[in-house]
Amino acid sequence: MARNQRFDVLFEPVRIGPVTAPNRFYQVPHASGMTNALPHVRARFRGMKAEGGWGVVCTGAISMHPSSDDSPLPFGILWDDKDIAAHALMTEEVHRHGALAGIELWHGGACTLNRTSRLAPLSPSGMPWLSTHIGFMGNLRPRGMDATDIRELVRWQAAGARRAMQAGFDIIYVYAGMGYLPYEFLLPEYNQRSDAYGGSIENRVRLVREMLDATREAVGHKCAVALRISLEELRGKPGRNAPSEAHEVIALLAEAADLFDVKMDSSPTDCAPSRFAPEGSHEPIVDFVKSVTKKPVVGVGRFTSPDVMVSQVKRGILDLIGGARPSIADPFLPKKIDEGREHEIRECIGCNICISSWHDGVPVRCTQNPTAGEEWRRDWHPEVFAPPASDSTILVVGGGPAGLDCAVTLARRGYQVTLADAAKEFGGRLRFERRLPGLAAWGRVVDWRLSQLRERTNVSLYLGSELSADEVLGLEHRHVVIATGARWTRMQFATIEFPVGEFAGPGIYTPDDIAAGRVPEGPVVVFDFDNYYLAGVLAEQLVRQGLAVTYVTTAGNASAWTFMTNELPLVHRALAKAGVPIVTLRRVAAFDGECATLADVYSGAELRVACRSLVVVGMRKPNDALYRALVARPQDLESAAIASVTRIGDCFAPGAIVHAVHSGQRFAREFEQPASAAPYTRDYPV
Ligand code: ADP
Ligand code: SF4
Repeated sequence: MARNQRFDVLFEPVRIGPVTAPNRFYQVPHASGMTNALPHVRARFRGMKAEGGWGVVCTGAISMHPSSDDSPLPFGILWDDKDIAAHALMTEEVHRHGALAGIELWHGGACTLNRTSRLAPLSPSGMPWLSTHIGFMGNLRPRGMDATDIRELVRWQAAGARRAMQAGFDIIYVYAGMGYLPYEFLLPEYNQRSDAYGGSIENRVRLVREMLDATREAVGHKCAVALRISLEELRGKPGRNAPSEAHEVIALLAEAADLFDVKMDSSPTDCAPSRFAPEGSHEPIVDFVKSVTKKPVVGVGRFTSPDVMVSQVKRGILDLIGGARPSIADPFLPKKIDEGREHEIRECIGCNICISSWHDGVPVRCTQNPTAGEEWRRDWHPEVFAPPASDSTILVVGGGPAGLDCAVTLARRGYQVTLADAAKEFGGRLRFERRLPGLAAWGRVVDWRLSQLRERTNVSLYLGSELSADEVLGLEHRHVVIATGARWTRMQFATIEFPVGEFAGPGIYTPDDIAAGRVPEGPVVVFDFDNYYLAGVLAEQLVRQGLAVTYVTTAGNASAWTFMTNELPLVHRALAKAGVPIVTLRRVAAFDGECATLADVYSGAELRVACRSLVVVGMRKPNDALYRALVARPQDLESAAIASVTRIGDCFAPGAIVHAVHSGQRFAREFEQPASAAPYTRDYPV
């Protein structure tokens, strides 16, 4: 198919200093969880985006010196010449597809706690970057830098740039964002120096300028010099002769960089979850940059719509369309637009599971793209599939995230697939969850897969088909996949860790009851020991239904695990706005239809809260009755010529949607393929 002409502007080349980006699709630096210990995993992950049409593909943060040590969080390093080869693997992959490779040289300053190097963290004035989350707390405070330290830092940047050039990078970053060292110099709260690097805005900018100049001197004849800068705080500070200090900083550096990569300041705003921020949410902060510098500007905003991208360019907000999450969710986004297949883009849902992988210290995972991080170690290509090994037919029972992904992947391989679901709509848990406050974009998990399935002739879809074991036996498919999901239980826990039977009696609800349309009588206590998003979202939903709600959790925060997805502060804000009291570190020890007894998880001290209903969001159990009924009848399976029955997704092991999708993908990828002893290939340092 031909490209739609209204998107032509996105395919114009853009000059960046001495190099030229082949188009406007720019994968900005983003964390991948892939350290120098996983160089092949990293190279293929980045290279896949170049293959998918991204004109520029960057690394994540690459530490320039052992004093920038984020362990146990994953980060790349370029500390000496021995590290060059690991990065050259990536630039080779990226160049092979005609894209430019960029590297984000990084010094974390007081944000890094140097747990491995044990060097005192560096900072402009010894001010710590304090965190309220235990994983980011440290008890070694940073030291203030003296003039020698500043000279050293500039030298590390230049040395890093030279090594990066040797590794084949085309664009070399100075990174002054997100609380990291050069950014701390920009803010008067952190920079309380009285020398040439503190005080006036000209002085606070001096370090960044010196780093840019040193980079240019080292590599500027060959490589572009990029500045990545966070502008949210600075935009809030009135300037002397300009609307804000952000304007002044960009004006002072307008000629110093070949490219400005501009963004917000903190994880929850920079990488905002779709639950709380729409596409293009950076625009109010970065919209002025092009009016102050003539150099190209790149910015992000979870852009997945080509019309929105064109509008960013045509309205003069951005020259290059930055993508981190959209490039993970669909590495082939640019190619699909180029080939007039924009309706096939697998749009990022903004769930931030990808960020959680970084917090977990593991290679990136993605809800929408189960091949992310698996390109090298499992040899999964997002758009290329092993052909079918036989003419086997496959029945997939259950059209939730797992069944949908399994069916679409088997169909893309070329198998004849039947997908059946008991409900009137496909989507499984997402039928309900996508209608909850803030979760509409999550429905893209269902929509993309369904539209792919509907396009294919080798797929039969059946709704309203609750299948029994006898019916499955009668359907004459060679293989059966059971993706019947899981259900929420009323399980009660004696302490945080010990299960002790179930809540019983009237007025007790699970999320499945609410999904089925039952409306609890108020006031309601929502008791959360699942600790991901659902209980918080349900509390918001019940308030919208006019009920008084109290949220209770055994954890220290509401929706505690959403710290991992950058959502936690926004969840607290949303519950406060909805008037929901948050009770932490308590479990519901008893509920009698009038009152819930809340016990402190440590001391056991009790507190009583009047309520008519209790919604328990705790444990899930597989809906595996159909699976068990089938495997209990081996002879009938044989007579029906059914060669295998396999459970996937929540029916196998309940988990977040990302795990269900991955499980469906894995079955479909490995189906009738030679089995290997190891689940994946282990990477090795070079
Ligand atoms: P997962 O996350 O693993 O995909 P879900 O709970 O989201 O699981 O989806 C499971 C789907 O399976 C639901 O849409 C449900 O209607 C369907 N289902 C459950 N039991 C049957 C059955 N016996 N026959 C057909 N569909 C079923
Ligand atoms: Fe987007 Fe979620 Fe995938 Fe991250 S994990 S890229 S937010 S779909």
